[in-house]
Amino acid sequence: MKVFVAGGAGYIGSHTVYELIRAGHEVVVYDNLSTGRANAVHPSARFYEGDILDKTRIAEVLEVERATGPVEVAMHFAAKLIVSESVAQPLAYYHNNVEGVRQMLAALVESGVNNMVFSSTAAVYGEPPKGECFEDDYTLPINPYGETKLASERMIKWVSEAHGLNFCIFRYFNVAGADATLEIGLDKDQLTWLVPLIMQTALGQRDKLQIFGDDYPTPDGTCIRDYVHVTDLAKAHVQGAEYLAQEKNSLLLNLGSGKGYSVNEVVNAALELFPFAYEYAPRRPGDPAKLIANIQQAREQLGWQPYLGLKEILQSDYSYRKSLIIPSLLHSRESQDL
Ligand code: UDP
Repeated sequence: MKVFVAGGAGYIGSHTVYELIRAGHEVVVYDNLSTGRANAVHPSARFYEGDILDKTRIAEVLEVERATGPVEVAMHFAAKLIVSESVAQPLAYYHNNVEGVRQMLAALVESGVNNMVFSSTAAVYGEPPKGECFEDDYTLPINPYGETKLASERMIKWVSEAHGLNFCIFRYFNVAGADATLEIGLDKDQLTWLVPLIMQTALGQRDKLQIFGDDYPTPDGTCIRDYVHVTDLAKAHVQGAEYLAQEKNSLLLNLGSGKGYSVNEVVNAALELFPFAYEYAPRRPGDPAKLIANIQQAREQLGWQPYLGLKEILQSDYSYRKSLIIPSLLHSRESQDL
C-alpha cells in the first residue's frame, strides 16, 4: 500500500520509513527538513519538501501521488518534542504541534485519505500515581509538549467522528537505539534524554553524565522509565498502517517495552558495554519517579510486541553515534539486506 509519512526524515519517522519499505510498502516522505535530514530518507521513498503547516502543499502532494495510486494511510511524525523547550516556548509548540495536525487533517479530509497513524506520548499521562500507565488512565499533562499531543489526540477523535477518519494513536515511552544498518539513528546534540547523553559522554563529547536525583521512592532511588527500541516502535507503525487498511477501525495504544529500568540500571548496563564517567546531581524539576507502559492492548489489538532489549538499544545507539565520528564503521549500502 502507499503510505504518506509527514516527518519521515526525522528520527522515528525515518526508522518507520525503513520498516515500511522492508515490509514491501510504497512510501511518500513529506518533511520540511527543519530537524530531519535529507540523507535519512530511504532511497526508495519519494521525497517532497514541505511544511506540516502548509495544507495546500500537503493536498497538492496527495493529488500528485494519486496519479500512481492513492495514499491509503497517512502518518504524522512532524512535531517538536523537547519538553524543556516546550516550557520555554509554549506558543511555538501549540503552533507547530496542534495547528500542524489541524492542517494535515484538513488536507486528508479534503483529499479523501481516511486512515491516520499519529505519534503521541506518555507525557499525556503527566505524573500517574501508580507509575504503570494504561490507555484509559486519566490524562493530565504537566508540560506544553504533553498538552499539545493530548489536544491533537482529541482533535483527531473529533475529526474521526465527523468525517469517518480511522486513526491509530501511539503513545510512546522512552524511545532510543538505531537501525541495525547504522544508516539512520538519533544524532542531535541539543537533547535532554538519558540515552543520547550517555553516548555523548562515552564518546568524549561531554565530561560526565549527571544522574538527576537518587532520593526518589524507587528501589535504588533513581527514576524508573520504560525504554523501547526505535526499530520495535517503527514496526508497530507498519502493523498500525496495515490494521487501518484492513480493519477500518481505530486504536489508541501505549508503545513501550512494558519493563522498567532505573537510571542506575541503564547506566550500569551501558558501563558493561563502554566506559564513561558519571556523578549524582539534584533532581531535575518535573521528572516523575516511575513511568512504565502497560502494553497488553498493543499485544492483543495489534499483535505487536517488542523484541529488542536494553542492551540492543544501548549497543546500537552507541555504534551509530560512533559511526558518525568514524564513518568507515558504516555498513556500505550495497552489503545490506533490505
Ligand atoms: N536523566 C538523568 N540524566 C540525564 C538525562 C536524564 O539522570 O542527563 C534521567 C531523568 O531524570 C529521567 C530519566 O533519566 O529520570 C529519563 O529521562 P529522559 O530525559 O531520557 O526522558 P523522560 O522520561 O524525561 O522523557
